[in-house]
Amino acid sequence: MIPFYFQRIPRFIQWLWPSILWRGKGASDELYLTFDDGPNPRTTPVILSILADFEVKATFFLSGSETEKYPELVKEVVARGHVIANHGYKHVSARTQKTEEWWDEIQQTEKLLSTYDSHLACQYRPPYGLLTWRQWRFAQKSGYTLSLWTLMPGDFDSKKSNQDCLDTLVRKTQAGDIIVLHDNEKAVSRLSEILPKYLQYAKSGGFQFKLLE
Ligand SMILES: [Zn+2]
Repeated sequence: MIPFYFQRIPRFIQWLWPSILWRGKGASDELYLTFDDGPNPRTTPVILSILADFEVKATFFLSGSETEKYPELVKEVVARGHVIANHGYKHVSARTQKTEEWWDEIQQTEKLLSTYDSHLACQYRPPYGLLTWRQWRFAQKSGYTLSLWTLMPGDFDSKKSNQDCLDTLVRKTQAGDIIVLHDNEKAVSRLSEILPKYLQYAKSGGFQFKLLE
């Protein structure tokens, strides 16, 4: 779906769209781990277990359709101190949807998520990070923050080895980064291997993991 992606979003792009949340706003040693596409009964428990081992809290951008199917998993994510936010209802590129249909799905997902504690209201990450101009303006006018990322190591990318992904994370991490990983079946076996190593690296380097607000 994504033929090309930046591992690190260039500064000029961040500068061109300053209203998008690219980076965290906290102190200089803070990182923000985010997981997209859950909940998933085969992958979410794996991610939760690794995060618990390292006492790291993260932000989960959830799909509305999966939230509806697996409410117990969402409860577990929340009970463990993580926060949840809106990744649309079904995982399709918003650019293929009419604005009305796309907006209805965001509202439907927002309503589902709002029944849980620790829901980040009106914070939306579009699938694949893509919107039309019209959708982008509409979301902004409606008071939504578009929450993207600074660092995407490509955990979904079958052309990359596990070591490549880990190297990207280790070499490119900078304070304030929002890091996007995936709570889905494409990424989980890779994350089982590299996420503990990365968390070990980041913690021993003095970084702290914070939640998006
Ligand atoms: Zn996604």
